[in-house]
Amino acid sequence: MISTKQLLDIIARMAEVIQENKDFLTELDMPIGDSDHGINLARGFQAVTAKLPTLEGKDAGTILKTVGLTLVSTVGGASGPLYGTAFMKAGAKMAGKQELSMDDLLICLHEAVEGIKMRGKSTTGEQTMLDAMVPALEAMKAAAGTPAEVLAAGLKAAEAGVEATKDMIATKGRASYLGERSLGHQDPGATSFTLLFSVIAKAV
Ligand code: ADP
Ligand code: MG
Repeated sequence: MISTKQLLDIIARMAEVIQENKDFLTELDMPIGDSDHGINLARGFQAVTAKLPTLEGKDAGTILKTVGLTLVSTVGGASGPLYGTAFMKAGAKMAGKQELSMDDLLICLHEAVEGIKMRGKSTTGEQTMLDAMVPALEAMKAAAGTPAEVLAAGLKAAEAGVEATKDMIATKGRASYLGERSLGHQDPGATSFTLLFSVIAKAV
């Protein structure tokens, strides 16, 4: 379904989408954080883009692990280690693969969620990226149809998950310092995940 060549194209497009939405993501991080989510991810994905030429011809595991390591080492905020862990955990399961199936994609997302839960000591309902990721994974597992349909179901659930973060009180990350004042705000990380996921959904 996704060749390693397509995987590299998807990652390159992810970097562009983050760059295009840098200001938007940073604005979302203003009222409930420290106004840097877009800046953090743009820095990380810029470093990822610089590494992409060295990844041509490599297996999916190596590609995903390198993306993860690059994010961990270049992003200062919480989102760097969290997204970095997500890519590294997914990469560990995709070692040696030249092509990713829908099942592989589900494994990657499952590993990403578990990695973030472990690293962030977090779970759903805490107004974080997990509130978009977990609904996307659940919807994809429940969906039937073509890969494009399954991914569309995942994207719809992620978008609904972003909306739902507005009704949550943050209990993890910087937004948790605000307590109830985090209510009414859309989580930056849930939003960036949905943007990244939309790249995969559009590519397949
Ligand atoms: P920082 O909070 O260090 O400034 P960013 O602004 O880049 O880092 O990222 C903030 C996002 O990270 C939040 O919107 C949230 O989605 C996510 N996040 C923060 N802490 C956690 C955690 N413990 N578990 C999961 N996601 C988290
Ligand atoms: Mg921040």
